[in-house]
Amino acid sequence: MTILLLGGTAEARELASRELASRELAGGEPASPLRVISSLAGRTSAPLLPAGEVRVGGFGGVEGLTRFLRTAEVEVLIDATHPFAATMTSHAVAAAEAAGIPMIVLRRPGFAQRAGDVWHRVGSVAGAAGLVPQLGRRILLTTGRQSIAEFAGLDGWFLSRSVEAPEPPMPQQLEVVLERGPFTVPGELALLRRHRIDVLVTKDSGGGTAKLAAARELGVPVVMVDRPPLPEGVPVATSVDAAVELLHGMLGRRRDR
Ligand code: NAP
Repeated sequence: MTILLLGGTAEARELASRELASRELAGGEPASPLRVISSLAGRTSAPLLPAGEVRVGGFGGVEGLTRFLRTAEVEVLIDATHPFAATMTSHAVAAAEAAGIPMIVLRRPGFAQRAGDVWHRVGSVAGAAGLVPQLGRRILLTTGRQSIAEFAGLDGWFLSRSVEAPEPPMPQQLEVVLERGPFTVPGELALLRRHRIDVLVTKDSGGGTAKLAAARELGVPVVMVDRPPLPEGVPVATSVDAAVELLHGMLGRRRDR
């Protein structure tokens, strides 16, 4: 049985290594080894690779993904991409439907606001760029290099942190830190203090919370970009455990057919 796991997140790596890479179907007989193919977009030059089989690069839209699902005889498609990879998710829904196979979305929960947080929710990165000038002059951007362009025409001093270097258009006053998490609260406090940051911009990715804790402690306002909506009618797991449970249910039903 073959599973295609769309990745690029820590949860996708955990799912691939912990549960899927070489496991046998629990309780099934005869037990069949699962083939798990992890897929990465290929955006980063030195990606953290999941365990097991990995393919890299786009599929070529819905048609290309549908073809891949059929050719590789994929039986369940798991979308464990980043909550903001909305194009990939919508392609996955359409391709799973076209190929007639079930699909699971694995999405970690968003950030939870805590007492002392000063958050301004916006619907998009463009919305964040519209709000930032009203909030401060020294801005830490943690929204990823692909979103830097939205801040290009703005005055103010920007510190951008991403895994890969951003490309123009970019704000005129920009310093870039190339770093991959996880980050610690003391480290984030030091960063905010060192650069006298007065606004933090982040996506509601639900990933590392150290930057939010540091912003809370220093009274720095946060511009929080809301997630794109989840697809309708697709089972959503909010943890790796829940995804494994859903997957086993689906595989069991397919095996029994
Ligand atoms: P996106 O805008 O939703 O997707 C654009 C195109 O990239 C897709 O149509 C697809 O190309 C290709 N693609 C995306 N994810 C892929 C995957 N896992 N395997 C194969 N092709 C993939 O995606 P994105 O926001 O650029 O994110 C790209 C990857 O980086 C995702 O895998 C995501 O998990 C990870 N990531 C994204 C963010 C973020 O903030 N967006 C943050 C951290 C990690 P085709 O149409 O040719 O198939």
